[in-house]
Amino acid sequence: MNTDALIRSSRRTVLVVEDEATNRELLGYILGESYDVLTAVDGVEALEVLAGHPGQIAMILLDILMPRMNGIEFLKRRQQDDTLSRIPVIVLTSDKDAELETLKLGALDFITKPYDMPEIILARVRRIIEFVEDRQIIQDVERDELTGLYTRGFFFEYCRRLPAPPRGERRDVIAVDVDHFRLVNEVYGKGFGDRLLCAVADGIHDVVHAGFGIGCRGDVDLFYVLLNQRRDYEAVYDALMRRVHQLGQSNVRLRMGVYQGVENTRPLEWYCVAAKAACDTIRANYTRGVVLYDDKLHERELYNERLIADMESAIAQRQFTVYYQPKYDIRGETPKLYAAEALVRWIHPELGFISPGAFIPLFEENGLIAKLDDYVWRQAAGQIRDWRDRLGVTVPVSVNLSRMDFYDPRLKERLLDIVKENGIPIESFVLEVTESAYSQNMDQMLKTVGELRQAGFHIEMDDFGSGYSSLNMLCLMPIDALKIDMKFVRNVASSSTGYRMVELVIEMARALGVPAIVEGVEDEAQYRLMKQVGCDIIQGYYFSRPVDAASFEPLIAGK
Ligand code: C2E
Ligand code: CA
Ligand code: CA
Repeated sequence: MNTDALIRSSRRTVLVVEDEATNRELLGYILGESYDVLTAVDGVEALEVLAGHPGQIAMILLDILMPRMNGIEFLKRRQQDDTLSRIPVIVLTSDKDAELETLKLGALDFITKPYDMPEIILARVRRIIEFVEDRQIIQDVERDELTGLYTRGFFFEYCRRLPAPPRGERRDVIAVDVDHFRLVNEVYGKGFGDRLLCAVADGIHDVVHAGFGIGCRGDVDLFYVLLNQRRDYEAVYDALMRRVHQLGQSNVRLRMGVYQGVENTRPLEWYCVAAKAACDTIRANYTRGVVLYDDKLHERELYNERLIADMESAIAQRQFTVYYQPKYDIRGETPKLYAAEALVRWIHPELGFISPGAFIPLFEENGLIAKLDDYVWRQAAGQIRDWRDRLGVTVPVSVNLSRMDFYDPRLKERLLDIVKENGIPIESFVLEVTESAYSQNMDQMLKTVGELRQAGFHIEMDDFGSGYSSLNMLCLMPIDALKIDMKFVRNVASSSTGYRMVELVIEMARALGVPAIVEGVEDEAQYRLMKQVGCDIIQGYYFSRPVDAASFEPLIAGK
């Protein structure tokens, strides 16, 4: 049987709230043939049962006169609760006067005691359930026009009506998200964006039809699927990616989050949010496509929310500190201090020392990064000035630009202002731009970076080798140094191809006529290898970890 038919034919659950045992039994008997029946002896217990079966109860049959919490009071409580007020109520009564009041409180129909007409009771219950469900369906537009998948509202409604999985079987929720969809749309055009969404939807269609499941387009570029538990999520992901690659753009990427073992203790929406959170953890991670949700992730999510909430006040309270890590020129006999990189740290009054890896990607997501970067740039420029004044030395300091910074049309002016305000040579205020930013929005990057260089800034391409930049792009892109991604150094000792890779990158830097900077050199052995392979500048723990400005000064003095 397909999923739709299953939903329509599934048994609904009805809750009977009645203090008299014989009446409860009688109603249970009458309804039991067509419905699953739960019972409660008063309003208080009814609320407990409802809380224990979220999204499962299709109708409430409610007595009025009951101890502890009577029917009227229960109806008042129900009205205040969005979820509960969606569940229709039929009032069980022998009291004509109470009818009007219960109607005002949202009851839809009455069944009068004594219960001597089972067929009428059954017919009323069925009619009301159908009526409410149909109304709900009509309110939601069933399918998404572009992709043909269910819309969000309809998806959740359908999932609610699904019968529970057979004993011993479980269901999972997956969330699929297009990485940087807005950029993709911008770079390749809206037509491509639409085709991409349809390709993902087709892939989801395949998954759903191969087994049991329901899928929907939950938001612009976000999809949810409820499906029977499986283990091969990597294969599901690969199948979706194959669909995407058929469109001919190899650097479009999906992310997939999985919540395994959905239960009745929470509404399905919660599990979808959790699956989405799992897939959000690999936003900046180009090596993983699939993540499973777990408790650790939940904690991390709370932690991340905290960081976002605290960011603005942290800037105001100057909790962010800029550290400096030296870059050494190793071309001569003895290594010489060449420059420094400004790297931000967060000293949080309660959470302690936080490294940028924990908050930069978060702030890049929601645009907060622009404000933080501005703060770091000003600190760094002020530091260059301070060292010039006090030590008589101009140490070039590079700052990091995030891809978000390039969305600001005033970027160049802002940077020029900072240089001017601090009265420092423009070439001492170096800009690091990560390679992945180039590859994601090439035309605009070419233009902006070109303008920045024209204005006199020196540009270093950061994390080279971690993105997808083509050789062609490298030749077009005006840069002043190539910073080789740390992973190459990691691989140099362990494999001969690793060594060959570094050699190749250095050859590229030579071809471009710019120095090659190698990051992440940690020990003597790596240092020797790098010198041997011909790299020009080295930044890494071997020379120094990033340190605060005061600790950096001795390095300048020793220059
Ligand atoms: P990045 O720009 O690639 O910075 C280099 C990172 O490598 C730094 O991590 C540095 O501490 C680390 N590192 C340097 N030498 C070694 C080594 O020998 N071994 C190892 N294992 N690591 C080394 P950090 O400071 O944690 O920064 C991480 C990333 O956060 C940076 O990567 C950069 O992308 C970002 N970031 C840091 N500060 C800022 C900022 O002010 N603005 C923006 N937009 N991003 C920043
Ligand atoms: Ca950097
Ligand atoms: Ca780097």
